[in-house]
Amino acid sequence: MSSYEGTLKHMVTRVAINGFGTIGKRVADAVDAQNDMKIVGVTKTRPSFGCDLAVSKGFPLYCTYDDQDKIDAFSESGYECKGGLSELLSNCDIIIDCSPGKVGAENFTKYKKAGVKSIFQGGEKHSLTGKSYTSSANHLENFGEESTRVVSCNTTGLSRTLVPLNDLLGSKGNISVNSVMIRRAADPGDSSKGPINAIKPVLKVPSHHGPDLMTVNQDIKITSLAVAVPTTIMHLHAITVELPAEHGLTTDKVLNLWRDTPRVIVMNGNKTNITSTAEVMELARDIGRKWGDLHEIFVWEDGVSLIDDTLYYFQAIHQESDVIPENIDAIRALMGIERDWKISVEKTDSAISAYYGII
Ligand code: NAD
Repeated sequence: MSSYEGTLKHMVTRVAINGFGTIGKRVADAVDAQNDMKIVGVTKTRPSFGCDLAVSKGFPLYCTYDDQDKIDAFSESGYECKGGLSELLSNCDIIIDCSPGKVGAENFTKYKKAGVKSIFQGGEKHSLTGKSYTSSANHLENFGEESTRVVSCNTTGLSRTLVPLNDLLGSKGNISVNSVMIRRAADPGDSSKGPINAIKPVLKVPSHHGPDLMTVNQDIKITSLAVAVPTTIMHLHAITVELPAEHGLTTDKVLNLWRDTPRVIVMNGNKTNITSTAEVMELARDIGRKWGDLHEIFVWEDGVSLIDDTLYYFQAIHQESDVIPENIDAIRALMGIERDWKISVEKTDSAISAYYGII
C-alpha cells in the first residue's frame, strides 16, 4: 500500500448521485451505510415524489440542471434545493450517474469539465468511458481510473457465476457460454413499459446482454438470446456452459464453488419450496433489506447439472438491486481506496447488513 492509499483509507469520499430513481436511491442508501464514504447530494429533475425520500434521509437535494427556473420550481413545491448540478459537482469527489440510459454522454461532458470522477450504469455503452466494472471480474483494472460503467443487472448476474467458474479452470482452458435471458417486462414502479400479455423476443441476435460480459472479462466466450415476459420482479437466465476437456469438475464441485462465492445464494428449490422467482422475492423480503432487495444472484441447486463437458443451470436476478453493492466497490476502485475486491465486497456487504439491522 502506498502512503497515498494509506491516507485515502482514512478519508471519507464525498459521493453525489445524479438521478435519484430506481437505481439512484438504492445506491444512495448503500453509500450512506458505509463509513468511508458519504452522500453530499442527490439530484432530481423536478420536484416529484422522490424528493420526499431524499428529505427524509437527510440527503441534500439538488436540481439535475443549472437553469434557475428549474431550481426555483423546487422551493415553489416546498423543497429546499441547494442548487444545480454545477454546484453539486463543485462539492464532491465522485458522481454516480443513475440517469436513464443513453443520456450519460451529455452528463459525462459536465463531469469531465468539473474534474470529477464518475460511474455510469448499464444503460450506457462501454464505449462511453472505455471501462466497465464488476467486483469479481476487474476491480484492479479500474483502480484509480477517472470513470467507469457498472454493467447492467443481467451482465452483473452473468459475471457473478461465470467469472469464478472460469477462474477455477485456470490453465485448463476457458468456458464458452450460451445464455437465454428471460427478462422482466418493467420494474414494479414503471407503468409505461410492457408487454403485459405477450412474450416478446429481442429481434437482435445475439442480444447485447451476454457479449457485454466480455467488457469485464475477455476470456469468456458468450452469446445470448433475450425475451421479455409479463412479470415485474426478476430476470431469469437459462445458461449452458461448454467446459474445456479435462475440466475435472462435477455438479457438486460447481455448486460448492458458488456456495463460497460472494453475492451468490444457492438453494434447493424442491426442498425449500422456492420453485419460482415469486418465492425468491418473498425470501428477499424476509431477509429484510429496504425495498425487499436481493443483492445476491439466486441459483437453484436442483437446477444445476453437469453432463460430460456441458453445464446447465438457472439463475434469477433482482434487476433493481444486484448492481447496488457493485457501485460501492466501484467507488473504492476509482477512488483508489481498496485494491482487493474481496475486502471491498466484505466491507460493502457487512455495512449494508448492519445498516438494515440484518444479522
Ligand atoms: P429511473 O428512470 O428509475 O431513474 C432515472 C432518474 O434519473 C429519474 O429520477 C429521472 O428523473 C432522472 N433523470 C432524467 N434525466 C436525467 C438527466 N439528464 N440527468 C440526470 N438524471 C436524470 O431509471 P433506473 O431504472 O434507475 O435506471 C438508471 C440506470 O441504471 C440506467 O442506465 C439503467 O439502464 C440502469 N439500470 C437499471 C436497472 C433497473 O432494473 N431499473 C438495473 C440495472 C441498471
